[in-house]
Amino acid sequence: SGLVIAVDGTSGSGKSSTSRGVADRLGLRYLDTGAMYRAMTWWMLAHAVDVHDASAVAARVGEPVIVSGTDPLAPSIMLDGDDVSEEIRSDVVNAHVSPVATVPAVRARLIALQRAVIEDALDGAGIVVEGRDIGTAVWPDADLKLYVTADPAARAARRALEEGGTDADAVRASLETRDHIDSTRGGLAVPDGAVHVDTTPYSLDEVIDQIVALAER
Ligand code: C5P
Repeated sequence: SGLVIAVDGTSGSGKSSTSRGVADRLGLRYLDTGAMYRAMTWWMLAHAVDVHDASAVAARVGEPVIVSGTDPLAPSIMLDGDDVSEEIRSDVVNAHVSPVATVPAVRARLIALQRAVIEDALDGAGIVVEGRDIGTAVWPDADLKLYVTADPAARAARRALEEGGTDADAVRASLETRDHIDSTRGGLAVPDGAVHVDTTPYSLDEVIDQIVALAER
């Protein structure tokens, strides 16, 4: 059966580009679990649910239909039949995704969806799964676990570039707020047996090469 590569780490560490590149090189599927938390958040906001009221969020958690595309070269996310790939990267989602992701019913539903995608991919060559809790909670039996980080200035610069030239200081503040909420919830932990990859000094291609070499060992 197929290979599962779990990629956990902080936002802006280069984890997404790295995961897609590794999946492409190894002929694997790709799943961005952060996009699922973002789609859930977009749905709650669009339905006027108070995202700071955990029981209000939990009450509606079963309603959105979230379907993740798994092509590493063309990642997509469908919400109730619409492609929301752009909407989920908006500032309003950046600002509200962490509280939504702390609601246990949200995590339970999305983890179940994620496991179904992984099981499906195991009929083929396998999948690279990217997030915060993949090697710890979603798929602890992954064949290779990575914990990807970068120093804060490098992360902010990268995210600002991805977001089309927004102010790096503002981006850094937003990333740090999210990291703080994410880490106090206890969701981002280094999985047992994970290889720590600090991307700060490397180009994207160098990081992909390192990980492909680990996967082929
Ligand atoms: O990876 P990305 O920055 O798109 O993730 C957005 C947010 O979704 C994170 O800040 C975190 O709150 C949440 N998340 C999570 N568990 C995951 C992936 C993302 O809680 N596996």
